[in-house]
Amino acid sequence: MDRRKFCRTALAASVAAAIPLLPGCERKAPVATDAVTSVRGISLEGAELELERAAIRELGESLTGPVLLSNHAEYDNARKIWNGMHDRRPALIARCMNTEDVGNAVTFARERGLLTAVRGGGHSWPGKSVCDDGLMIDLSLMNTVAADPEAQRAHARGGALLNALDSAALEYGLITTAGVVSHTGVGGFTLGGGMGRLNRKYGLAIDNLRSAEIITADGVVRRVSEEQEPDLFWALRGGGGNFGVVTEFEFALHPFERKLFSGNIVWPVAQARDVLEFYGEWYLGLSDEMYVGPAMATGADGAGVILMEVVYNGDPAAGEKELEPLRKIGKPIDDTVAMQDYMIMQTQEDVAFGHGVRSYIKNGMVSEFTQGLVDMMIESFTNDPRLAMFTHTLGGAAKRVGELDTAFPHRNAETMVGVGGGWMDPADDESGIALSREWYYKLEPFMGGYYDNIDFDGDKAAGNYGPAYPRLSKIKAQYDPGNLFRLNSNIIPAA
Ligand SMILES: Cc1cc2nc3c(=O)[nH]c(=O)nc-3n(C[C@H](O)[C@H](O)[C@H](O)COP(=O)(O)OP(=O)(O)OC[C@H]3O[C@@H](n4cnc5c(N)ncnc54)[C@H](O)[C@@H]3O)c2cc1C
Repeated sequence: MDRRKFCRTALAASVAAAIPLLPGCERKAPVATDAVTSVRGISLEGAELELERAAIRELGESLTGPVLLSNHAEYDNARKIWNGMHDRRPALIARCMNTEDVGNAVTFARERGLLTAVRGGGHSWPGKSVCDDGLMIDLSLMNTVAADPEAQRAHARGGALLNALDSAALEYGLITTAGVVSHTGVGGFTLGGGMGRLNRKYGLAIDNLRSAEIITADGVVRRVSEEQEPDLFWALRGGGGNFGVVTEFEFALHPFERKLFSGNIVWPVAQARDVLEFYGEWYLGLSDEMYVGPAMATGADGAGVILMEVVYNGDPAAGEKELEPLRKIGKPIDDTVAMQDYMIMQTQEDVAFGHGVRSYIKNGMVSEFTQGLVDMMIESFTNDPRLAMFTHTLGGAAKRVGELDTAFPHRNAETMVGVGGGWMDPADDESGIALSREWYYKLEPFMGGYYDNIDFDGDKAAGNYGPAYPRLSKIKAQYDPGNLFRLNSNIIPAA
């Protein structure tokens, strides 16, 4: 049945029975344009635009979800994204409920040359998912994930969060690679590459992507895969939000025991040399099942610590044996590695990285854990409770994919090293950013390229995509010649 008709029928039945309406079927108020004749917008090139009241009303009527102007009660909540540093005010927020809504919002923006931001989970560090005076295409109401145990596939809608992806798959004893903070969005995470604790065994999120439904700048709905529009599918796997709005991601799932040998081992920072020098040699021989990587931070008591996060995705006895040599290094002050539910690791950072934190971060890709890097990690450690150095361990299956098989160009990396932090007080912005940069720039000589998803300043798309860039630029010219989707690590359409 047609959805509008279904909602009307449900509405009538609900009124009759005096029961709450089905979610998504609430009667939608018209866009509150009464107080305005037009709304000030901004063009893709930064010029001022008038958005006529009639056009905004028409957009509102074409969407199942609401269109919010700044006078709407929900507006302030909807424009907020995860990083509290970004306080931007879009001219319009289109809260999409389905693929058709997204298509209508994209067409509205393209026809007017209106600056457009796409919001999935809202975790963009540089805040690219919200803009001043433009259109925010908000996918956060399109947030469900369905797992198909027989086909071993998960279908995540464009605004789903990682928690929903993990949970839907785990219900059937299945899993795919997801990131380490469960309120992150599937959308931006996947389109940028998608690193997580299982990537040595199953590859990055993009290596598990089997197909996607995308609305390109021309407003057309496309299903892309290795077989259908393979160039566009290639570009989506690492090319970020450059090519359109993805309304559905289809992932391969893998059989999985959710109880894993996992946890953290913590040493005083004074033992960092022993730990890092050992790690620098040891990690090279690790199995794909073992994900283990260092972090350096300041503990609750103000003392510096070095820690190793461990997740063994396999037979626990084998994991315990493989971990044994690391456990013999120095004198740990804590060792929580034991059998535990995977979701404990997957949610353990959720509060520390809570919504509204003001956060700055930089990272670089590391292909070799050299003595020079170890020395500099120790020398550069900054004893400040706001800041940390951390890693995303790669290698394994993530490294066995060819450099140009996907648009993610950093396949030779063994790990990603990030530096940054978070604080609540705006007065901390200047020193927090300055100290993060100082720490990061000491490590940068040991890095080559960066992971765009975990970088506040990522503005070097051409150089960072390296040999993948010319192909990306051609595909961009084919699907988004006017560069409507430019609030991202932007790929310039080829001439
Ligand atoms: C606390 C935290 C933890 C993180 N942990 C990890 C991690 O473990 N591993 C990892 O790899 N990364 C991690 N990241 C980085 C994360 O992958 C990126 O920030 C990513 O962009 C977040 O996606 P999102 O949908 O939440 O973000 P949003 O801010 O909503 O979107 C970011 C950009 O992605 C694009 N986009 C989002 N959804 C869509 C869509 N459906 N269609 C088209 N374009 C879309 C848009 O261009 C948008 O500007 C983390 C980030 C944070 C803040």
